[in-house]
Amino acid sequence: MRPFAYLRAHDPAEAVRAASGPGGPPTSAPSQFLAGGTTLIDLMKLDVMRPSQVVDINDLSDELGEIHADAAGLRLGALARMADAAVHPAVLRDYPVIAQSLELAASPQIRNMATLGGNVLQRTRCNYFRFTDFAECNKRVPGSGCAALHGVNRKLAVLGVSDRCIANYPGDFANVLAALGAEVGIAGPSGARRMAFEALHRLPGDSPDVETTLRPGELITGFFVPAGPWTRRSLYLKVRDRQSYEFALAAAAVALDLEGGVVRQARVGLGGVAAKPWRSREAEAVLTGRRLDEPAAAEAARAAFAQAVSHGENAYKIELGRRTLHRALLQAARMEV
Ligand code: FAD
Ligand code: SF4
Repeated sequence: MRPFAYLRAHDPAEAVRAASGPGGPPTSAPSQFLAGGTTLIDLMKLDVMRPSQVVDINDLSDELGEIHADAAGLRLGALARMADAAVHPAVLRDYPVIAQSLELAASPQIRNMATLGGNVLQRTRCNYFRFTDFAECNKRVPGSGCAALHGVNRKLAVLGVSDRCIANYPGDFANVLAALGAEVGIAGPSGARRMAFEALHRLPGDSPDVETTLRPGELITGFFVPAGPWTRRSLYLKVRDRQSYEFALAAAAVALDLEGGVVRQARVGLGGVAAKPWRSREAEAVLTGRRLDEPAAAEAARAAFAQAVSHGENAYKIELGRRTLHRALLQAARMEV
């Protein structure tokens, strides 16, 4: 691990001030916030992330660690721990898809440490990115190429990829935020702002090293998930190589507002298969106004993957992703709410 300066911030303004400065994309900026550290420290040890300064934000937990639900929706502080959000009574009752996406992630020890803000900013698990012995990785070294295009890519993405990078976004919770139309709260050098969560992550395009639309020094303060008649009938289905402590090969986040078996509104997210947290408006459009039966679920699943592109080893993900969504939809339709 390389030497770095350590600073402990006592309020959001101090954290933002400390992290502002010459930059580059926030995910590779010389100043990094330290929340749970379960991604950052890992990547610093691997020499993939090389911040010269680490700004510890754990003292902001009182201010930014709250979980609060009311008639308008659910507010989740960026410093709330994954484990706490997963067992919060209002989350379990009214937003089961959120609780499940957190509960099915990582391990109990990691969930106790890891925060929601850090969770959405986790980096891809593409091995060519994580191990510096590999020379070609446009995400780690812009312009160096993409070894995964013709290499080991079994776990990588089939949606939203480019010819510069086919890495998948590995997290779970963020797919739910995208599906439920959440907003993200941000504090920065020029004040506070809010934007659609879906606009936080970028597609790889020509510059896969630029992963988010955060500006230098910006701190995520929290998330707002609007209430809706679909949030109670919701679930997260995650398919992986083993049943525990493993990232998704494919996942579906589904939330439905049904009346007499007919879909009034649907919210659909996908995980494990896409370059960023993914909402499938194509699947939602197929479902709206339809009776949710086998043919409708199958058609929605086909629509969700109509634009999918594979690169050899990961071709199976298209069918796996379809079947995961298909199953999740029928399972959600049968839920007692
Ligand atoms: P940190 O490591 O502290 O930070 C991560 C990044 O976010 C850093 O760049 C940091 O600067 C930045 N950051 C942190 N907080 C903020 C903020 N408020 N504003 C702006 N920037 C910020 N995740 C899943 O979803 N599903 C899984 O199945 C899963 N399995 C895992 C298995 C293992 C073995 C490991 C190690 C991790 C796994 N994870 C999984 C990822 C894990 O959930 C993340 O590492 C964790 O959520 C990151 O949160 P953190 O608070 O530790 O972030
Ligand atoms: Fe790097 Fe992306 Fe290619 Fe993986 S898929 S080697 S992260 S450029």
